[in-house]
Amino acid sequence: MTLSYVALGSNLDNPRRRVAAALEELAQLPGTRCLANSACYRSKAVGPGNQPDYINAVAALETNRPALQLLRLLQGIEDRHGRQHRQRWGARTLDLDILLYGNEVIDHPDLQVPHPRIRQRAFVLQPLFELAPGLSLPCGATVAALLARCPRRGLRKLAGTNSSMAGVQ
Ligand code: ATP
Ligand code: CA
Ligand code: CA
Repeated sequence: MTLSYVALGSNLDNPRRRVAAALEELAQLPGTRCLANSACYRSKAVGPGNQPDYINAVAALETNRPALQLLRLLQGIEDRHGRQHRQRWGARTLDLDILLYGNEVIDHPDLQVPHPRIRQRAFVLQPLFELAPGLSLPCGATVAALLARCPRRGLRKLAGTNSSMAGVQ
């Protein structure tokens, strides 16, 4: 079993409900358990055009699926949410990114882990820190140190949402 952290993001078609639904769907993936999920956050879109704000969260999954298979399973969930790949960093119903897969460094044409843009993204680092305050990347950098250096860009925790450690004993 491998501990993997997955980022969720949505800025179309009721993002809050979608992220909540996607968290449930992640927990039901084959060979996979959801150990914990962060609270939900609101962030300003960084992509092209004038996009709605994003709702973001991070889930901690324990999985027996190899990383590429996990990616395909995540893409299946994105597809079921009607995700259309029109424009790079364009608005989307659901985005699921593998942030970390154990302590592995993966450089495959379809999959880079750790996620290459993790360091610039408070909307990923903040919920990751919430779930695992002592976590380090394979390079040794701590999430806490990366977060301290990362501009917040208006990131806000959503009232009424909290991290849940349902699967953690
Ligand atoms: P960003 O990668 O900057 O967050 P994005 O999430 O909008 O951008 P997508 O259009 O969702 O990008 O994905 C483009 C491709 O990225 C996917 O087809 C997938 O093969 C690849 N990819 C590479 N590394 C990862 C990863 N760690 N998690 C998810 N997808 C990845
Ligand atoms: Ca993404
Ligand atoms: Ca993606």
